[in-house]
Amino acid sequence: MLTLTDSALPPDGAWRHDIIEILDLLPVGVEIYSRDLEAMFFNKFSDALFNYDGRAITHFDDWWEEGFPDPREREFRLRVIREKLVLIELDVTDQRIMEAELRHIGSIDTLTDTANRRAFMERAERALADARAAPAALSVLMIDIDHFKSINDRFGHSTGDEVLVAVATRIRANLREEEVLARIGGEEFAIAMPGIAGEAARAAADRVRTAICGSSVASAIGAVDVTVSIGATEYAGGEDTVEDLLRQADQALYEAKARGRNCVVWAVAGG
Ligand code: GH3
Ligand code: MG
Ligand code: MG
Repeated sequence: MLTLTDSALPPDGAWRHDIIEILDLLPVGVEIYSRDLEAMFFNKFSDALFNYDGRAITHFDDWWEEGFPDPREREFRLRVIREKLVLIELDVTDQRIMEAELRHIGSIDTLTDTANRRAFMERAERALADARAAPAALSVLMIDIDHFKSINDRFGHSTGDEVLVAVATRIRANLREEEVLARIGGEEFAIAMPGIAGEAARAAADRVRTAICGSSVASAIGAVDVTVSIGATEYAGGEDTVEDLLRQADQALYEAKARGRNCVVWAVAGG
């Protein structure tokens, strides 16, 4: 580190001018307030960071009102130097955006843009806790594409991928905003439907099934006919966990395959 002795410093006036120029070059915001919290100095970065232009910040209170750092976007440090309040402001916007993106990537299936298994478990557990507390209904569906291996074999893996995307899109189009759709396996999807059971849930499940078999999927190499089997279950109160509900739905799905596919089977309560 280079240490300047007093004698090496230029005379007061020139030095002051240089310092301001240096402060304006910094990639962090610097604001200085007097002991009465009157604004004395803002560097260029601070101006840009808070978009002050046009607005008068004459007092620390103005800053608090106009530029209060949203923790998702900004971080700041406060120091008192010889009765002056010095604010050092860091712009963490990009970092926060990156963090949000990483969280997002960690919870989605990038092929179908639906939640992944991990995110499904989290959201379904929250929905189940709500259903238990209310108490309210909750239905869980497991959807498996029929003979998907044969789709891959006949049309190729990339057409298989197109079918997966189309199936996810058709399911999503038939769900309400609060319903959780996730790709939980290669060609398996799960849905948690808060607030519905009985006839409404049966109608919803059949809407999903018919949305998929109702018309061929238009892929790059032509039309592909796709059907799905659905196993479903309702939360019946009590101690069932999301794993329990998925297990019940999976057993019902197995039964749907055995009954010839392209159908919905509901788990028998207590079964
Ligand atoms: P069933 O009607 O009994 O469900 O028969 P299936 O052929 O659909 O069932 P199976 O589970 O035997 O086959 C699933 C196939 O899904 C096997 C695997 O190669 C394929 N698969 C898994 N993930 C992907 C993927 O991301 N893309 C593609 N194209 N295929 C996948
Ligand atoms: Mg499968
Ligand atoms: Mg399958």
